[in-house]
Amino acid sequence: MPLPSVFVSHGAPTLPFEEIPARAFLQGLGKELGRPAAVLCVSAHWERKSPHFGLAERPETVHDFFGFPEQLYDIRYPAPGAPDLARRAAALLKDAGLEAGFDGERGLDHGAWVPLMLMYPEAEIPVVQLSVQTGGGPVAQFAVGQALAPLRGEDILILGSGGAVHNLPEWRTARDGAPAWASAFDDWLAERVEAGAVEDLLDYRARAPEAARAHPTEEHFLPLHVALGAGGGKGRVLHRSFDHSLSMAAFAFGD
Ligand code: ZN
Repeated sequence: MPLPSVFVSHGAPTLPFEEIPARAFLQGLGKELGRPAAVLCVSAHWERKSPHFGLAERPETVHDFFGFPEQLYDIRYPAPGAPDLARRAAALLKDAGLEAGFDGERGLDHGAWVPLMLMYPEAEIPVVQLSVQTGGGPVAQFAVGQALAPLRGEDILILGSGGAVHNLPEWRTARDGAPAWASAFDDWLAERVEAGAVEDLLDYRARAPEAARAHPTEEHFLPLHVALGAGGGKGRVLHRSFDHSLSMAAFAFGD
């Protein structure tokens, strides 16, 4: 059986220290999925014009945020890189007529290491990071996922890491549970994922309720479209909860 492709919401960088349901979920997810040979992680926090793969043998832990508690900057996630997997994945994109590039310096940003340190705390499984495409939109990301799908049969976990609802300016203004606009988008998303409604998910900005408010910018949603393409379009809900107005929803595709 090929591995499912997975989308997770990574929330705030402080997630490793927050006693919230999403943290407990991610801590159990690694056991549920088992140990893949390697992880290909699409991070919302790495934007390039074309898909780029990290090529470092020993990726640094990148603390790509400001003004958070000191203990967050002490976290290291010393998983090895997997340059051979990066090259294999780029070749799959090229076979599909898509551009691909490499970055030999890029480490793991918190879009990758926050969920991975909870899922696989031993940091022994090799990780390759993949960028999202600035301005590429859902259709381009879906095509990237489709091209990468064969990796699922090679025991590679394709993990999209972003946010199901991600409106940072409104994050902390939500005090008593999820606001109605955030729930409306989140409910639509979960229902459409489980229905395998690919066209709706690709055209979510026109078709989903409150789409522009749920995603003022698109980069945190795009890793979902990679997972969607890699998994063949039909998904199931792995987890749903909110951290203020941030949806922490997670989905598996193709299992
Ligand atoms: Zn983020």
